[in-house]
Amino acid sequence: MLTIGCHMSVAKGFTAMGKQAVEIGANTLQFFTRNPRGGNAKELKEEDVQGFLKLAKEHGFGKLIAHAPYTLNACSDKPEVLDFARRAMKEDLERLEYLPGNYYNFHPGSHVGQGSQEGIRKIAGLLNEILTKEQRTTVLLETMAGKGSEVGRSFEELAEIIALVERKEKLGVCLDTCHVFDGGYDIKGNLEGVLEKFDCAIGLERLKAVHLNDSMYGLGSHKDRHARLGEGHLGWEAVFQIISHPKLKELPFCLETPNELSGYAEEIRILRESRL
Ligand code: FE
Ligand code: FE
Ligand code: ZN
Repeated sequence: MLTIGCHMSVAKGFTAMGKQAVEIGANTLQFFTRNPRGGNAKELKEEDVQGFLKLAKEHGFGKLIAHAPYTLNACSDKPEVLDFARRAMKEDLERLEYLPGNYYNFHPGSHVGQGSQEGIRKIAGLLNEILTKEQRTTVLLETMAGKGSEVGRSFEELAEIIALVERKEKLGVCLDTCHVFDGGYDIKGNLEGVLEKFDCAIGLERLKAVHLNDSMYGLGSHKDRHARLGEGHLGWEAVFQIISHPKLKELPFCLETPNELSGYAEEIRILRESRL
């Protein structure tokens, strides 16, 4: 069974979000741990979280993805920005213990001119400060499109971060189909070859989730603009190959396409009908 969901708002609570997910045919979902532009996390209500967990169990939900805010930059050159990254990640991971065993995805960071090596060193350093033996959440590094000074633009850069982290067992990777294609990996023309590269650099066993998006721009554009499925440079055929690939098909897939809930419902319907 395909595990598929989309990015959703948790503004009305976890139970409400879970109900919406079920309504659109999803059996996983992604949400921001706090406002995407930063700020404080909302108070968790025990009853609301319990309601959600019950519903997720009843409907056989797969692993969920909590997404860190975009403003979190784990390799900033500004001490106050690094400090926010440290505090927000630590706090998010503590709160995720209420939803144990899921994923926490973050954009590795932007080195803002310090160079990718310094960025990699800082990101790994921060992870070494906050990952704990007890945590039940796996932290995912997202593959990036290489816009600006983004770190994580290649599988090798992600591998370098992982190599410097002590608690590697708490780390995984989330592959964003728009980002990797936009970053120069031809998952449309040569999915097999790209997965081989991933396996060589990182190891496919680290691949834990897929952000399923089409790309508004072509291969290697480094623009990071998501398109609705079938409306970008990837196209439906490539998307079907991805969700049906033997090495990917068991992973949770999450849509981050520019859509309202009804648009997501339609994409999910097509994907469920079309998996080979
Ligand atoms: Fe992301
Ligand atoms: Fe993404
Ligand atoms: Zn993106």
